[in-house]
Amino acid sequence: MENWSPGEGGRLPVAVLGATGTVGQRLVTLLADHPWFELKVVAASERSAGRPYGEAVRWLLPTPMPETVANMTVARCEPTLGTPLVFSALDTETANTLEPACAREGALVVTNASSYRMAPRVPLVIPEVNPEHLEMLVRQDFGHGAIAANPNCTTIGLVLALAPLRRAFGLRRVNVVSMQAISGAGLPGVASLEIFDNVIPYISGEEDKVEHEAQKILGGVDANGFAPAELTVSATCTRVPVLDAHTLVVSVELERDAEPEEMLAAWEKFRGAPQELELPTAPLAPLHVHLGVDAPQPRICRDLDRGMAAHVGRLRRCPLLGWKFVTLSHNTLRGAAGGTLLVAELAYAQGMVDASGLRH
Ligand code: NAP
Repeated sequence: MENWSPGEGGRLPVAVLGATGTVGQRLVTLLADHPWFELKVVAASERSAGRPYGEAVRWLLPTPMPETVANMTVARCEPTLGTPLVFSALDTETANTLEPACAREGALVVTNASSYRMAPRVPLVIPEVNPEHLEMLVRQDFGHGAIAANPNCTTIGLVLALAPLRRAFGLRRVNVVSMQAISGAGLPGVASLEIFDNVIPYISGEEDKVEHEAQKILGGVDANGFAPAELTVSATCTRVPVLDAHTLVVSVELERDAEPEEMLAAWEKFRGAPQELELPTAPLAPLHVHLGVDAPQPRICRDLDRGMAAHVGRLRRCPLLGWKFVTLSHNTLRGAAGGTLLVAELAYAQGMVDASGLRH
């Protein structure tokens, strides 16, 4: 790969694949004034390539498009973009071939797509929960580069709430019903005639992702690879007419019974590597605990702590599994763009990637 010299102020040059999409727009915004990474390449489909970003994109965020990005020319999505760090917000089909090709060119690819999340040597990382899984990056066979994956947006909110409970009390079984925002469906989005005044009780492939990704993230890593957590997860995923943030209704069976005060304390004091390392995109607290009888709610909570926290509340006894609660998180920030950025910041802070690519 071309050895990019560090950008302005020694920042690491980065590219975004799928920069014009729902997640891509969030990534571009978060990267516009990032202290460690400098956005050098925005890439998208043939439809957008060659045009100024400001013309090619259908801007959907409530914040203005960063001026520095508006005049950048959109590149084709090719493996030879040349930056040591590549963020992918591509659809799965394009990601299938392009992400390993970028890794073979020497880049560390941090992806939102589901293509490689369950691949045997690809770490699926929530930085507060399983930062140690990143050690698998150097054991992959994508040439000199590697792929690290951000979990599914529903999985992230769920696992952030489950991880402290599992650590403190053990966890056997989980039942989750999701109410997922329409921004999770990508562009052009769910047709208004389908979602307005309605709930769609099906999201293709989603339940399988939630059930299996949670086991990989909460599992261990050893010389043989990943060892999934022994945990049964049953998921029902629905789409609801909310713009951003997925809300989850969760029931859990713990290994040892706990008092509600203990469970609230486990959530309250939960911190991880992003907070210890003071990563630029880290929330102050990964979990915000709400005690109000009608909290948390997506419109009120999703943007708190820059959209990077998960919110838990309504903790009460469940006659079936023992305990039940509600959790929610922003699907395109914590669940996608912000989550991927946090994974990349963790890898960078730990010296796993620099201007010449992945460090072996
Ligand atoms: P999206 O809005 O549909 O955006 C897709 C992006 O990929 C656009 O930039 C598009 O470029 C580009 N693209 C499409 N086909 C391409 C091709 N053949 N070659 C090169 N580029 C192509 O999708 P999204 O919601 O941002 O999701 C992106 C990825 O993140 C998906 O894998 C999704 O499953 C995952 N994800 C999404 C969310 C969420 O909440 N939305 C959360 C977690 C993970 P053009 O604009 O030029 O067509």
